[in-house]
Amino acid sequence: MTDSPAEWDASGVEDLGGGIYRIPLPLPSDALRAVNVYAICEGEDVVLIDGGWALSESQRQLEKSFSEIGLSLSQIRRVLVTHVHRDHYTQAVSLREQFGCHVALGSGERANLFELLAAFSEQRMPRQFEALRRAGAGRLMAQLRNVPANDSEQWQVPDEWLEADARLHLGSRTLRVISTPGHTAGHVVFHDESANLLFAGDHVLPHITPSIGFQPSLVPFPLRDYLASLRLVAALPDARLLPAHGMVTDSVHKRVSALLAHHEARLEASLAVVRAGAPTAYEVAEILRWTRRERDFAELDPFNQLLAVSETLAHLDVLVLQERLRTVRTDEGVDHFGLPPARR
Ligand SMILES: [Zn+2]
Repeated sequence: MTDSPAEWDASGVEDLGGGIYRIPLPLPSDALRAVNVYAICEGEDVVLIDGGWALSESQRQLEKSFSEIGLSLSQIRRVLVTHVHRDHYTQAVSLREQFGCHVALGSGERANLFELLAAFSEQRMPRQFEALRRAGAGRLMAQLRNVPANDSEQWQVPDEWLEADARLHLGSRTLRVISTPGHTAGHVVFHDESANLLFAGDHVLPHITPSIGFQPSLVPFPLRDYLASLRLVAALPDARLLPAHGMVTDSVHKRVSALLAHHEARLEASLAVVRAGAPTAYEVAEILRWTRRERDFAELDPFNQLLAVSETLAHLDVLVLQERLRTVRTDEGVDHFGLPPARR
């Protein structure tokens, strides 16, 4: 969700040593402020981790940052993209069109990308709308139907689908592809074990909790997947955290523990709200507080309300998996959550 502190987005290029640079690029909405791409230099060649959002001001900023380091965009050989969200993927496609670089994306993003190639909004994301119906969020669905369509040409297939555990050799450096579903179904992170670096995309963010399962192709339990992916990363040796939004920090493990604790607290809070009598994900979302600033649901814009409702539904679904709640679907397709019958 929104609200990150610090000036990480306005500080320009950050030299991380070893020929690696963090380059913050602008985004059109102020919610996330910026997206970091990482340039990895190996001789004359540059590999980018994530591409940014295809916007002329973003490419201008990338070009300016490259020239500060003494590089040109034509040196980009490969763009390794952590997930299909437009602030990570679309500029990779536009760089490929202009400079012929190679674009790679996790193979778990296939279903998402094919939905994105098809159409837009309710047609383009019918399953998101199904989930909103299930959440009892009719009013929000009506608002989201008015969001204008555009830009289908920014969605193209990558040159390569990355498989989990693949090892990518970039000159002297080896990155391991680690599949981390949750934020999206095909999210991957890139682990440079010998340099102790984790290019974490949106899986582990230092200031904010990533949205869960906001994607065109729905999966049954995105939060369960996300929590498992957090534990997977916690089982790797600790590394420096190179996130897609926010500052570089020293410890992936420290942040993963905080994220696990956050979701544990959200599960408890969601359970308490259902216990107090709110039956649908939408009504639970209205009662919970949102973002680091503890905002009221009504203060969020429709897009952030969509994320909030989807995330609440994901938490309630995990509580059902844990047999701490049960659910009944109404004739209108709305899931009503309640306590399971007391067990003997
Ligand atoms: Zn994302």
